[in-house]
Amino acid sequence: MAKFDTIGVLTSGGDAPGMNTAIRAITRRALQHGIKVKGILGGYSGLVNDSMIDLGARDVSNIEYLGGTILYSDRCLEFKTEEGMQAAIATCKRHNIDAIVAIGGDGTFRGATDLSLRGIPTIGVTGSIDNDVTATDYTVGFDTAMNTVVEAVDRLRDTCQSHARCNVVEVMGRDCGEIALKTGIASGAVAIAIPEVPFDEDAAIERIIAAKKSGKRSMIVIVSEGVFTADGKPYGEVLRHVIQEKTGVETKFARLAHIVRGGAPTLRDRLTATEMGAFAVDLLMEGKSDVIVAEVAGKIVSYDISFALITDKMYKKKLAEGALDKFSAEDVEKMKAICDFRAAEIRRLYDIHLGLCR
Ligand code: ADP
Repeated sequence: MAKFDTIGVLTSGGDAPGMNTAIRAITRRALQHGIKVKGILGGYSGLVNDSMIDLGARDVSNIEYLGGTILYSDRCLEFKTEEGMQAAIATCKRHNIDAIVAIGGDGTFRGATDLSLRGIPTIGVTGSIDNDVTATDYTVGFDTAMNTVVEAVDRLRDTCQSHARCNVVEVMGRDCGEIALKTGIASGAVAIAIPEVPFDEDAAIERIIAAKKSGKRSMIVIVSEGVFTADGKPYGEVLRHVIQEKTGVETKFARLAHIVRGGAPTLRDRLTATEMGAFAVDLLMEGKSDVIVAEVAGKIVSYDISFALITDKMYKKKLAEGALDKFSAEDVEKMKAICDFRAAEIRRLYDIHLGLCR
């Protein structure tokens, strides 16, 4: 078992509900092992600028249900420079911090690798509303974000029904359409546009015209923020006008934006954040470093960060020349299987939607 005096915990990149629940679990699990905990403030900026607080058992009381992050988050460009990195390492040395648990998304994990390579064992825990880390089935915050979208869309549905309107709703997700796809299905959307599947605009227009003729009064269309027109405009706003002009149905547009990031984490996010947080400390105790905690087929497991990041690139078709060279044939097969599974799941759900929206 590895021995640690103090570990640091930080939240970095875009915030997500459940980050606080993870902070609590990491802190309490470390204390259970007799390890002191520092909460690094403002993501990697707190390491670069030496900004942190002590975290004892009472400091993380009653935070499991709070949205946002009590440690604050930041996008710290300085940390990407060698100078910033050296400042971060010096901060760790000054405070006897001999390991870090970093909660965030893929950018945060790149930073975690940089720390690990410089001798500070670092474990990543996913905190991202987008569910956009391909190697894990689930990222903490996703369920809460989806529930927030569904609640908002249910309200829009009420008023659409009263006034016989269509409402195009744009939701977050960056280049991952999972929030849009799953909330679209759960809200009975008449059309869903996501980056992963080509959107058939003509078919959607025909559907809306036919639905209107058959007496449908309320139409919900969900568009992922990662879908753009050929000339780079956010597609949701454009689609709103296309629908109104071509179908004659009065059409409104709503961008839910950061509303979807806030709020108390759901039970699913609290449970997963707790399991992942505790597991991250256990991994450190086993001497692991440079890995992320993932959920695969309902089990909490770990992946090397480089494996996870390259799987992501493979899925998003952004693999650089030679990026797979350092991986074994077995690893590459495993990556392909993960990507195929995810793509097939998206297609399967999209087809269910297409069969039901009328
Ligand atoms: P997320 O973790 O949600 O993907 P970002 O991509 O903004 O969010 O990354 C969060 C932070 O992680 C950045 O502000 C930076 O401090 C650090 N980071 C991102 N990319 C790298 C990198 N290539 N090397 C070192 N640190 C990085």
